[in-house]
Amino acid sequence: MHRNSEHAPSPLGIKSKAFRQIGHWLVDQIADHFEQLPEKRLNHGDTPGKVREALGGGALPEQGEDAGEIIRRAYTLLMNHSLLDGHPRFWGYIIGSGTQIGALADLLAATVNPNVGSWILAPMASEIEAQTVRWIAGWIGYPADCGGILVSGGAMANYVGFLAARRVKAPWNIREQGLRAGTGQLKVYCSTETHTWIQKATDAFGFGTDAIAWIPVDQNLKMDVDSLDAQIKSDKASGDIPFMVIGTAGTVSTGVVDDLDELSRLCKRHDLWFHVDGAYGAPAAHLEENAELFKGLTEADSVALDPHKWFYSPQEAGCVLVRERSHLLDTFSYRPPYYHFDDYGDDPGINYYEYGLQNSRGFRALKVWMGLLQAGRAGLEEMIRHDIEMAQLLYQIVDEAGDFEAFQTSLSITTFRYKPMHIDDDEELNALNEKLLVAVQNGGKAFISNAVSDGKFLLRACFVNFRTRRDDIVMLPEILRETARYLA
Ligand SMILES: *Cc1c(COP(=O)(O)O)cnc(C)c1O
Repeated sequence: MHRNSEHAPSPLGIKSKAFRQIGHWLVDQIADHFEQLPEKRLNHGDTPGKVREALGGGALPEQGEDAGEIIRRAYTLLMNHSLLDGHPRFWGYIIGSGTQIGALADLLAATVNPNVGSWILAPMASEIEAQTVRWIAGWIGYPADCGGILVSGGAMANYVGFLAARRVKAPWNIREQGLRAGTGQLKVYCSTETHTWIQKATDAFGFGTDAIAWIPVDQNLKMDVDSLDAQIKSDKASGDIPFMVIGTAGTVSTGVVDDLDELSRLCKRHDLWFHVDGAYGAPAAHLEENAELFKGLTEADSVALDPHKWFYSPQEAGCVLVRERSHLLDTFSYRPPYYHFDDYGDDPGINYYEYGLQNSRGFRALKVWMGLLQAGRAGLEEMIRHDIEMAQLLYQIVDEAGDFEAFQTSLSITTFRYKPMHIDDDEELNALNEKLLVAVQNGGKAFISNAVSDGKFLLRACFVNFRTRRDDIVMLPEILRETARYLA
C-alpha cells in the first residue's frame, strides 16, 4: 500500500475525512457570508490596539495545533475585524468588490499550486494566463498579439510599462550600463493628477523623482497638452533626454481621462514612449458610448489596468499590456543555464519569468479568467454601465439636495460635500467634511473616501461594485445627515 496522508500525516498534513469536514464547514460559512453581506456592518472602526488584542500576542507555539480549530479561529477573527469591501455600500478608494467565483478560484489555484514562472511548471495555468491577457487586450481594443502579463496590481503594472519604456527609448544600452552611461537626465512626463506610483518608480529604479516633469492640468483636470509640448521642447534644448509620457485613463481622484489621442500624436512627433495608466478606467473604454472619451488608448505603447478594480476580481490582480511583445522580453529576459525551459521548438509556451519582474509566480490569472467567463461580454458591460449610472445617480441626488454640494462625476466617481445652509466658509466646511468622513467610515453603514480639489475637502464615492443597488445610493445622504447630527 502506498504512503498517503491517511497513514502518515506530516505536521502539515490533514487527513482526508477531516479535510472534507473543515472544508465543507468553511464553504458553508462563506456562502452565508455572501448571502448576509448586505445586512452586515461593513466596518467596525476598531483601533489597531483593539485588533491586536483580539489576535493575541503569543509567540509561535512549540506544538502545532488542530487545523480545524485554526480555520475556525481565522474565520472568526477575520469576519469580526475586517473591512468588508464587497459590501453593497462600500465605495471607498477604487477597490473591486471581489467575487464568489474568485474565492473558489483561489482555492483551486492553491490546490494545483502551479509556478506560473515557466510553461513546463504550469502548462495549463500559463495558457489560461495567456488567454486572459488576450481577452483583456481585446476588451479595450488593443492588439491581441501584444505582450502582456498579470502582476500584483496597477502600480506594478505601471512599473513594468516604465521599465519597458526605459529599455526601448534610452539612447544607450541601459540594461548593461545603467543610468551612469547617460549623457543627460532621462525625463518622464505626466500630469499633476497622476497616481503616486510614478514617484516610487523613478525613485526605486534609480532615476530619482527629479526625473518627473509634472505637467499642469486644465480646468477639466486633464493634462495640458500645450504645456507638455513646451516642456519637452525646453528640456530637449537644455540637454535632458525625454523618453516617456504617461497619460491617465481615469485619474485616481476624480476619474478624469486625459486626451489620449492628442498625447499619442505628440509622442509620435517626439519619438517618446506613450504609456497609459488605465489601472482604474481602462475597462470602461469598451463601452461604445465611451469610444470618443478613450480615443487614442489603443495607440499606447503600453497600458496598465487592474482586474482587481473594474473587473471586480479579488485582490491581487493587475495587468500590463505592451504593444510589441518583444519589448517585454527585451526588457526582462535572462536565460540562466540552470533553467532548461525551451524544449518546444516552433511552438513554444510562454515562460512568464521572462516577461516581468517576478520569478516564481502564483496563479492569479485563474480568478480573473473565471470572472470574465462567468460574466461574459454582456455581463461585464452591464456591470460597468451600472456603476457609471450609480455615480450619476448620486451626483443627481446630492445636486438636488439643499444641504449638499455636487462637484463632479466622471466615469464611476462622484465628488461632493456636505454643506448645511448655515455654513459658507470653506475652512469650516473642510473641517466638517473631514470629521464626517471619519465618522461615516467608522460607522459601518457605508464607506466612502475623499478628494481634495482647489483647497476644498470633498467626499468621494467610487463605484466598482456590482452589489450596489439604487436604494443603497438613496440611503447615503441620509446616513451622512444622521452622522452629522450625531457629531453636532
Ligand atoms: C489604483 C491605481 C493605481 C495603483 O494600482 P494598485 O492596484 O493599487 O497597485 C495606479 N494608477 C491609478 C490611476 C489607479 O487608480
